[in-house]
Amino acid sequence: MAVIEPAPAVPSTPQARPGKRTAAEGSAIEGILRRQSLRESAARTYARSLPIVPVRARGLTIEGADGRRYLDCLSGAGTLALGHNHPVVLEAIKKVLDSGAPLHVLDLATPVKDAFTTELFATLPPTLADDARIQFCGPAGTDAVEAALKLVRTATGRSGLLSFTGAYHGMTAGALDASGGAPDVRVTRLPYPQNYRCPFGVGGERGAELSARWTENLLDDPKSGVATPAGMILEPVQGEGGVIPAPDTWMRRMREITAARSIPLIADEVQTGVGRTGTFWAVEHSGVVPDVMVLSKAIGGSLPLAVIVYRSELDAWEPGAHAGTFRGNQLAMAAGTATLAYVRQNRLADRAATLGARMLGRLQGLAAAHPCIGDVRGRGLMIGVELVAPDTDDPGALDPPVDPALAVAVQRACLDRGLIVELGGRHSGVVRLLPPLTLSDEQAEAVLDRFADALAAAERAHRPGPPAYDTRHRNDTGPSH
Ligand code: PMP
Repeated sequence: MAVIEPAPAVPSTPQARPGKRTAAEGSAIEGILRRQSLRESAARTYARSLPIVPVRARGLTIEGADGRRYLDCLSGAGTLALGHNHPVVLEAIKKVLDSGAPLHVLDLATPVKDAFTTELFATLPPTLADDARIQFCGPAGTDAVEAALKLVRTATGRSGLLSFTGAYHGMTAGALDASGGAPDVRVTRLPYPQNYRCPFGVGGERGAELSARWTENLLDDPKSGVATPAGMILEPVQGEGGVIPAPDTWMRRMREITAARSIPLIADEVQTGVGRTGTFWAVEHSGVVPDVMVLSKAIGGSLPLAVIVYRSELDAWEPGAHAGTFRGNQLAMAAGTATLAYVRQNRLADRAATLGARMLGRLQGLAAAHPCIGDVRGRGLMIGVELVAPDTDDPGALDPPVDPALAVAVQRACLDRGLIVELGGRHSGVVRLLPPLTLSDEQAEAVLDRFADALAAAERAHRPGPPAYDTRHRNDTGPSH
């Protein structure tokens, strides 16, 4: 059984600091938010939907400058495997600071980096670890994606790439091309298997098999217009795409298809890694061993760090072929080593599997009472709730349209109740929960209580007028509010 850090008591409603917020404090907070909106880029995202000013944080909880406490299920977009400011992470950072070690060393060898690499390799699928090379990249996930694409292009001498509908790999040019949003002539987009909204209209294993056959066919048809590519990049669970777990059988099919044609398989585990989906790496669910793994977010223990690990055979780079000033972040490596070791030693991946399954079950119960929940899905502690506008005349209709406005309303209602959630999916209609893996049972219940309350309130406000839905169609379950 996992040894979990004792959870701080979780109030069921947001708590005010003892003593009221003074007028001066209130106007200071408003000033910070106002100056941010005046000075920062129009591209800012979370700052718009979550207008809070965090000043302290511990575990699942963030405290705003206004004294309110929030349960943080955004976790730095899935970065904070151990939650905020976990003692083992703070201790590891302090140890480096107190030791007088250099903080910036480009790609020089250091004991801190050596320890990180050893710990990381201990977590990898053994057949990859036995023969792996690691490339420290620029600090973000997208840097590692770029490195992976460049690596396979260099190693194969080919330029094309296979990627998937709904994918998200980052915001730099190559990563963006590989993502679902932007077309690139070198990228061939393949259907990602989806149970809900399956492009083939069948879902399940059959839909996944059809998607695999499509891939096979494109590669083998000499007139498909698709030349043998440099690589295939996939997320074992699409995160930003709306929390869509790929079936294990499909993952194995992708491995067979790529291996048979000498196409390197790149697993983007930037978001799924470090226990998040219920195994240390999400590829372990299927037993697939990719040729390249793209890792970031949680591996830096909340500080910026990104790497690729890959089979040594692909290491065709010349010295300096891929560089970056900030690829030697010592504090991030120390924080990352502590995080990886803590997750491994305390079996937090197993904990994520058990708790995630329980949370999914409760959310599925909620879906039965709320027709605006089109789908509940996820793996481990990577959970998505897709909100839809059901056809009131035909509540059983297949694939009702996604309801992004309701998703925004639910996110806002969650915030009002002291719960921070993320939105994702094709039209940002999926509410995403990415709590830390240290979540206690009580905290999970508090998160779901607040979510259920927020959903009911947002649903009422969103579609005013009693009844919210024509109750003729809801005879067995009935509205829960
Ligand atoms: N790949 C995946 C699967 C991601 O989820 C993300 C970020 N959400 C990235 C790559 C890009 O990472 P970053 O934002 O650190 O560049």
